[in-house]
Amino acid sequence: MKPRVGFFDFTSCEGCQLTVLNLEEEFLELLELVEVVEFREVMAGDAVPLDIAFVEGSIASPAEVQRLERIRERCRTLVALGACADTAGVNALSHFCDPQELARSAFGRPVEGIEKTLARPLSCFVTVDARVPGCPIDGREFLGLLQSLLVGRVPELPGYSVCVECKLGEHPCTFEKGTVCLGPVTRAGCRALCIAGGDRCRGCRGLVDNPRAQPYRQILEEHGLTVNDILAEFRIFNLPPDRS
Ligand code: SF4
Ligand code: SF4
Ligand code: SF4
Repeated sequence: MKPRVGFFDFTSCEGCQLTVLNLEEEFLELLELVEVVEFREVMAGDAVPLDIAFVEGSIASPAEVQRLERIRERCRTLVALGACADTAGVNALSHFCDPQELARSAFGRPVEGIEKTLARPLSCFVTVDARVPGCPIDGREFLGLLQSLLVGRVPELPGYSVCVECKLGEHPCTFEKGTVCLGPVTRAGCRALCIAGGDRCRGCRGLVDNPRAQPYRQILEEHGLTVNDILAEFRIFNLPPDRS
């Protein structure tokens, strides 16, 4: 029998599931290896036991906690799919911004009846066995993880920072242009995508293991900045440890 796989979404834009669908040919090849029994973007399934549950989105209400716990009970391996699920992602802003301020920046106007919710990553509520970081995820990284899970392995995420991939790509450092970058403390694996595209790293893949805080502090100081000056930038995708 093929391994049973389900995709679930909570508070999110569903962009990570779309990344999976956009794999097109590779997604179809994937369907030969597994049986996808639930995928709300394309189908609704029955509540059968699962080998792997890919869960997208942050948890932002007691009802979502309950639903997540039921998914956890049904699956052998639970994977946090994307930044919203892994670190709270852009939903981390719910801890620091007024809901109407967020509504105005998203929709250009206030939204009636919007409530303050505090979104958290999956790991605050259930055991997470594996993660695909990023906003959105990298389709190749998703495929690599799935292939590993199918042979009973959980691959390690890169334990080094985006700076390593940035330097390997010989990109000019944004700090030299006076632009703050979170690359020194952010987990690699995106091949420094944003810097290669002329932007800076905003930390969507979450903190690297054991971030080297002191050298980063020094870089900031050299450019007349403190950690407090860049906290707002950090909070776009990440919750501080005392909230996650
Ligand atoms: S991580 Fe980004 S792309 Fe994925 S669901 Fe969250 S907001 Fe959307
Ligand atoms: S700080 Fe940013 S731009 Fe500079 S090397 Fe690191 S990742 Fe690249
Ligand atoms: S460069 Fe930073 S913000 Fe951009 S994809 Fe990589 S981790 Fe995310």
